[in-house]
Amino acid sequence: MAEAKDVYTFSDLKDWSASTKGLDHPATLSVIGDPVEHSRSPQMHNPALQSAGIDAEYVRIHLTPEELTEGLALIKAAGFTGTNVTIPHKGGIFDAVDDITEVGRRIGAVNTVAIDGDKLIGHNTDGPGLKRAIREEFSMDLTDLRIMIIGAGGGAGKAAAVQCAMDHCDRLVLVNRTVAKAETLKSELEDLFVDPDRLEGPADRLVAIPWEEKALERELGQVDLIINATSVGMKRTDAEVVPQRLIEPHHLVYDMIYAPPRTRLINDAESAGAKAANGLSMLLWQGVLAFEFWFNREAPVEVMRKGLMESLG
Ligand code: NAP
Repeated sequence: MAEAKDVYTFSDLKDWSASTKGLDHPATLSVIGDPVEHSRSPQMHNPALQSAGIDAEYVRIHLTPEELTEGLALIKAAGFTGTNVTIPHKGGIFDAVDDITEVGRRIGAVNTVAIDGDKLIGHNTDGPGLKRAIREEFSMDLTDLRIMIIGAGGGAGKAAAVQCAMDHCDRLVLVNRTVAKAETLKSELEDLFVDPDRLEGPADRLVAIPWEEKALERELGQVDLIINATSVGMKRTDAEVVPQRLIEPHHLVYDMIYAPPRTRLINDAESAGAKAANGLSMLLWQGVLAFEFWFNREAPVEVMRKGLMESLG
């Protein structure tokens, strides 16, 4: 029996049955991206497929932006169940799908595609994955929380903000280095904060501020959950995401970064007596929810967690 290649290509897709001949299971699930070799999704999904007794193999496929549309058509023709989508295609694929879930439409990006007959259905499990991660890590629902998202100008920050707003969180503070991007996002979410049963108007509950110490200080007293959705903290020499003196014991701190597992923000939060968690749980739950979107059945979460942990060493 042949082993799957680490990474397949557009030209492999052109004759998929020959390219994947000899595999134990038909390669009908994938992650597409450029680059894609870093993706840990196969290590999370293949044990899940095996454990659930599903006759399918999950592989990585390298597609450039120029190859995306034709690549998707080949994926559909090859009888795939679906695919995950990673950088740089999460936005580009938006126009290539036939239908899109409400959360995907609001986020404006797709990370999961299900193939339903002739139709490509786009979804985004990053926001819903964050929601499940917060529940697992802190035993809290987004609905009950006053939330600050730092990095509200990027894709992950937007996914988080849309999910918090769709769940009607108590308050949402959007923080970004380029404040204009946070303000644009704020205007996109305003309709979700209109609530005739509440005394406070949208202006009190939805705020956009620059990533500056004074502005953070003004808001952090009225925040329960702080989410880092920037890449600041991946390097040891990176700046502080939040000055340590502003972190209080009542704060919950979620850093979307999972490698390294302990960032400066997590260390600072724990030193301040706050609860903190890294982004591994979000990575896990976005995968779990993709599995459930494809197969309409419960995913073997613990099998997926083990696969993911092993892939991270
Ligand atoms: P992105 O699109 O590049 O977004 C970057 C965001 O971070 C922007 O808001 C940007 O601000 C801000 N930023 C970047 N460098 C900064 C700096 N030096 N100082 C201040 N702000 C800075 O990236 P992304 O895809 O959203 O990902 C963001 C982070 O989330 C990454 O660390 C990624 O690994 C992580 N992530 C984790 C998961 C998970 O499952 N755990 C999922 C997705 C992403 P400007 O707008 O001002 O440029």
